[in-house]
Amino acid sequence: MQLGKYSLGIGDRFSHQGVAQLRAIMKANRAGVDVSPVWNKSNREHTYVHSHPADVRQEADAAVAKLGFTGKYFVDADHINLGTVAPFVGTADFFTLDVASFIGKESPVEAVNAFVASCSKYIGKLTIPGIDHPIEVTEELLVKIAGKFLAATQQASEIYSFLKEKKGEGNFITEVSMDEVESPQTPVDLFFILKMLADKGVPAQTIAPKFTGRFNKGVDYTGDVAQFAKEFEEDVLVIDFAVKEFGLPAELKLSVHSGSDKFSIYPVMAAVIKKYNKGIHVKTAGTTWLEEVIGLALAGGKALDAAKFIYTEALGRKDELCAPYADVIDIDAGKLPSKEEVASWTSEKYANTLRHIPGHPDYNPNFRQLIHVGYKVASEMGTTYTDLLKAHADVVGSCVEENIYDRHLKRLFNL
Ligand SMILES: [Zn+2]
Repeated sequence: MQLGKYSLGIGDRFSHQGVAQLRAIMKANRAGVDVSPVWNKSNREHTYVHSHPADVRQEADAAVAKLGFTGKYFVDADHINLGTVAPFVGTADFFTLDVASFIGKESPVEAVNAFVASCSKYIGKLTIPGIDHPIEVTEELLVKIAGKFLAATQQASEIYSFLKEKKGEGNFITEVSMDEVESPQTPVDLFFILKMLADKGVPAQTIAPKFTGRFNKGVDYTGDVAQFAKEFEEDVLVIDFAVKEFGLPAELKLSVHSGSDKFSIYPVMAAVIKKYNKGIHVKTAGTTWLEEVIGLALAGGKALDAAKFIYTEALGRKDELCAPYADVIDIDAGKLPSKEEVASWTSEKYANTLRHIPGHPDYNPNFRQLIHVGYKVASEMGTTYTDLLKAHADVVGSCVEENIYDRHLKRLFNL
């Protein structure tokens, strides 16, 4: 099973927007970009909204049937580990092996020594084609890299072996993710991580490193764009070299997590993948949920009331809702509107405050991030919430489609 060159992770908290999401993908396909949809949902999300992995498969299959989509599509068991993978085995065909928590765990001395010995040919000046400065590789550096990543890659190999036994070799896509950590992995780290994965027989088709800068949920990238550009380009070159050097799958590409809304780095990514004719996978999960709230606000009446209720509740429960996302949100509480203020808002005012249009006078990234983590409130509303989604499917669906196509795909692929 092979992932296409370009793919977009489209998470959907409440599983109602599959058709609207697929419409956006098909629009890009018609515009000449063969991008495959990957419906992704993590165990964490399933827990919060009380959904089951099988629901995602049903949603994807139903959307594909409804629109007569004939391209490749996938269902991603996002951020799974050995403890959480089991319920996904039957219905997912893309597995994101999250080994971030194994970074820095100790490995047996023999394993470290064997790895360092296997890298002896790289000691000295390592030249990666396309990167103009050679990398100084020393035995100390190799020991340090092994100390950081050997246990994590070993864990990836254990999850992969489990899946291979359950699903059969070649019947699923493997992604390895290390993105949910504090410190970024450098291009040199990535080179040796890929060697470890190859040594352990993990046929990764995508790899999600932690890039430099902050990838806060639902808002733009914060960080040094020039530094990101340099590292992203070097990562692409490292992967190209590693594929040939270590015999990894030829289609291996970068996966950008929390990739929605990172508008200021989209031109960088677009230029680099075009320059080297490389693929990319971008995950955009929560951005669709935000469009549901925008759509409900625009629908007015009870739906606007529900959108206001979600904000008011989230504001009152800010600490509780933000806690699981502490590392990936930055809310300036002083810039959050009061519930009284929001109560007086029109549909347009609410939608414009939440919608991600950089530079729009009403856009408020603090409001947006709080709603982002507020999906638990909607989940608690149960059918009150999902009935509103059904009643206003047209307006909500067009918000979802416009967001994915106009704000994401167009920027990512220069459409
Ligand atoms: Zn991730």
